[in-house]
Amino acid sequence: MKNKTILITGGAGYIGSHANKMLYEKGYDTVVFDNLVYGHKKFVQWGEFVLGDLADYDLLDMVFKHYSIDAVMHFAAYAYVGESVTNPEKYYYNNVVNTLNLLKAMRMHDVNQFIFSSSCATYGIPQKIPIPEDHPQMPINPYGQCKLIVENVLRDYADAYNLKYVSLRYFNAAGADPDGKIGEAHDPETHLIPLILDAASDQNKHISIFGTDYNTPDGTCIRDYIHVNDLAQAHILALNYLESGADSDVFNLGNGNGISVKEMIETARQVTCKTIQTIESPRRPGDPDSLVGSASKAKKILGWRPQYTALKNIIETAWHWKLKQLS
Ligand code: UDP
Repeated sequence: MKNKTILITGGAGYIGSHANKMLYEKGYDTVVFDNLVYGHKKFVQWGEFVLGDLADYDLLDMVFKHYSIDAVMHFAAYAYVGESVTNPEKYYYNNVVNTLNLLKAMRMHDVNQFIFSSSCATYGIPQKIPIPEDHPQMPINPYGQCKLIVENVLRDYADAYNLKYVSLRYFNAAGADPDGKIGEAHDPETHLIPLILDAASDQNKHISIFGTDYNTPDGTCIRDYIHVNDLAQAHILALNYLESGADSDVFNLGNGNGISVKEMIETARQVTCKTIQTIESPRRPGDPDSLVGSASKAKKILGWRPQYTALKNIIETAWHWKLKQLS
């Protein structure tokens, strides 16, 4: 029997490349579609690669004609929250309009299984912690708006057309595959763990702590960090769920543990055995005090079992990747 073929948009990016590797290891054929604006060609070490932009409908049409795609995992998106505020047009076109192109190509080619990378940014300021899936969705920036719009589009398309989808609302993706072949590498880098590890490896002098007067026990922001391979695993479970004929649904993906910026830095000091200098800086606009998700629905319905429940293990994998980059 032919292996199933999965189209992975954004498969050269951080989370997409980890999903690609895991799908390949589980015996799926994969086709990575990426414009390499933020993705890395060197991360595409498994499956086929198509260099292209989701704005290019004709190319998408060709890809669906050429490869017999069974399902789509849609990771491709711009993801700088601050930039989405200063240049929303870039986000609405790339993250919403181009997703409509992708869905159209799927419909034209009778591909009806879709896994969408959504975000906890769709919730906005939490009214309760941990955040369940039925929490009101009131995004506070265009990045979160785009993710919410696509979630709503999927709901309508599922009602009107034969689409089956799973939207996965990630909390903070973290860590790297323990093989050390792929990891987190954004340019510019804005994320906490890579920046802490830059400070640990003397690539930066210090890490800035954005705000120490939040309404949290140590005054710094609390987030829910989830290992990138646990996210990848959830995608495969979501795919299996759709393959079993189940109905479209939405799931949070997080560890359910709130970690403050200061705790993160302290754990990174233990893992790296480095001093790691800090500077207390002003708050970053738009950061809620605390974002922690309840993933009990994914555990119950998808059978998801995150493997990296200890923060130390998550940082160890990111540090391993970092040291490999430096060697
Ligand atoms: N953060 C920080 N210093 C940095 C980068 C991030 O204090 O140099 C904080 C940020 O304010 C947030 C947390 O670390 O509370 C996680 O930020 P990140 O950008 O990694 O992810 P986000 O939560 O924005 O998706």
